[in-house]
Amino acid sequence: VSFLQSLPKAELHAHLNGSIPISILEDLAHEFISSQGNALDLTESTEMLKAIERFKRGHELKEILDFFGLFPMIYKLTSTPDALRRVTKAVLSDFLDGDRPQCTYLELRTGPRKTDAMSREEYMRAVLEEVERYDEDKVGLIMTLDRRTGPDFWEECLDIALKMKNEGRRLLGVDLAGDPTKSDVALFDTFFAEARKAGLGITLHIAETLENTPEETLQLLSYRPDRLGHATFLNQEAMQIVMKDNAPIEICLTSNLLCKTATDLDNHHIQQYLKCNHPVAICTDDTLPFRTNLLAEYALLFAARPLGLGLSEDEVRRVAEMSMESRFVELLKVKDTSKS
Ligand code: IMP
Repeated sequence: VSFLQSLPKAELHAHLNGSIPISILEDLAHEFISSQGNALDLTESTEMLKAIERFKRGHELKEILDFFGLFPMIYKLTSTPDALRRVTKAVLSDFLDGDRPQCTYLELRTGPRKTDAMSREEYMRAVLEEVERYDEDKVGLIMTLDRRTGPDFWEECLDIALKMKNEGRRLLGVDLAGDPTKSDVALFDTFFAEARKAGLGITLHIAETLENTPEETLQLLSYRPDRLGHATFLNQEAMQIVMKDNAPIEICLTSNLLCKTATDLDNHHIQQYLKCNHPVAICTDDTLPFRTNLLAEYALLFAARPLGLGLSEDEVRRVAEMSMESRFVELLKVKDTSKS
C-alpha cells in the first residue's frame, strides 16, 4: 500500500454525485426526513433509508442500466445549494486531504442540474466555489452533459461554460455521459465544436456497452476528444483512430466489472491498451455505489493474477505517470505547442 500511496497520480474520471462518502449521504437522508415534519411521506422515507443500507452493503447490479436507477434518490438529497456545497466539499476532501490522500490531482466532473432551489448556473457556481478553495495544481472541474438531453439543454450549458471560462473560473473541460443506451449523439456536435473553440478539453463516454453502434462511436470520435471514458467496445476502425490521435483512455476497472461490461480482468480492455503502450488513466468512476477508491483500483493493477493484473512496480509507476500526463492542463498544452 505504501508503494501505491507514494505514486503521484491523477484521478480524471470521478462523477461528483457518484462519489459522495456514504456517511455524508446518510446524514443528508436523516436531515431530509426530519425536515419533512407533518409532510413526512413514510413510504418515501423508508425507501430512502433502505437505499442507504443498500449503499452500505454494496449493490448487486444485474446490468449497467440498474446503475442509473441509483441516482434519483441521491439527487433528492443534493438538490439545494447548501447540500451540494456540502457534498462537493466532502468529495474533494475524500480524494485530496488527510495523511493518505487518494490522489495528487483530481479532475472532478458533474452535470449542472436545475432544481426548485437552484438554476444550472447556480449549481455550477456552487461546485466551482468549493473546487477553487484548492490550488489549481490540485483540482479542476469538468462539466458533464447528460446524453438523454438535447439542444435546449446543451445551449444553456454552453452559455454557462463560456461564461465561466471568460470569468477565468476553474472549468477545464466538458464530457458526455449518462445512460449509454439513450440518445442521438449527433445532436451534440455544435456543443463540442464550440467548447473546443473556447479552449475547453473534451472527454467523452464512448463505446461503453455493446449497444453503442460503430456509427455512434465514429460520430463521437469526429468531435476530436482529448480523452475517452471507458472505450470498452471499440471496433478496429475506431481503435485505429484512437491510436493515431493518442487520446488517453480513462479506465474504471471495478465499475466495468460490477456493471458487467467486462467479464473479468483478463478480458478487460485495459489489456489491449497496455500491450501497445497506449496512454491510460486509472480512475474510480463512482466510489459510492462501487465501494472503491483510487488506491483500491491501483491495487487491482498490482495484485497477482488472477485477483489482479499482476503488473510490476515499474509498470504500475508508468501507469500512474500516464495519468498525470493525461490531465487536461498537460494535453491542451501539448496541442497548443503543436499548433504553433
Ligand atoms: P453528477 O453528474 O455529479 O450528477 O454524477 C452522476 C451522473 O453521472 C449520473 O446520473 C450519470 O448520468 C453519470 N454517470 C456516472 N457514472 C457513469 C458511467 O459509468 N457511465 C455513464 N454515465 C455515468
